[in-house]
Amino acid sequence: MVERGSNLIVALDYSSAESAIELAEKLNPEQVRLKVGKQLFTHAGPDVVRKLHDLGFDIFLDLKFHDIPNTVAQAVQAAADLGVWMVNVHALGGSRMMAAATKALSARSHPPLLVAVTVLTSMGREDLDELGWGAEPIDRVCHLASLAQKAGLDGVVCSAAEAAVLSDRQRPGFCLVTPGIRQTGDAVGDQRRVVTPVEAVSAGATHLVMGRSITDAPDPAGTVDDVLESLQGLQGH
Ligand code: C5P
Repeated sequence: MVERGSNLIVALDYSSAESAIELAEKLNPEQVRLKVGKQLFTHAGPDVVRKLHDLGFDIFLDLKFHDIPNTVAQAVQAAADLGVWMVNVHALGGSRMMAAATKALSARSHPPLLVAVTVLTSMGREDLDELGWGAEPIDRVCHLASLAQKAGLDGVVCSAAEAAVLSDRQRPGFCLVTPGIRQTGDAVGDQRRVVTPVEAVSAGATHLVMGRSITDAPDPAGTVDDVLESLQGLQGH
């Protein structure tokens, strides 16, 4: 039996609520959660989140808040008011910003999980050099994940390679939410490094984000079944 929602999150990267709902109606909220990011939210607004809730899905609101502490605190409160299951901020906003977000949710009886983006997986060593950081991405990721944990966050978004390192360093139960997942034989698209669901979970990922592998598949529900079946027996799934 698959647990409710499982830890598989399908990214609804669409430009209209209609397209997002059409895909969601093919999926089962007992099997997957859904991610609403900047593209869909900017087109369709909070109403699309409400509609997806009405279909029974838990929502990861992936808006990567990065602003002064008070503004981010208010933004995560608004996400909690919407009733989302997970929301995220940029760890680069710093400890005070992350702590303000944690505090803003602390009085809630059922707060969303709060996770931080560390270094975007689209950035490499050259990008960090350009910013004047002079560091390998993995070292920045470890530092920012440590700050996120100290600020009381529930986890971070990271690549599978980073999950392999972070799973030994962060507290037990710290969420490692991992995009860049492809089934064997899928188109890679614009992702630079991709791994299979089994490789990601074996590396320590606690939650998998999958977009086009599922949304562009001829049979999205069948693809979800295949992914969940491949994960049967692995820790946390
Ligand atoms: O289609 P695909 O599986 O590549 O989609 C991955 C999803 O995860 C997209 O919504 C993308 O914005 C998101 N994401 C990512 N890398 C990050 C953070 C989020 O690919 N570092």
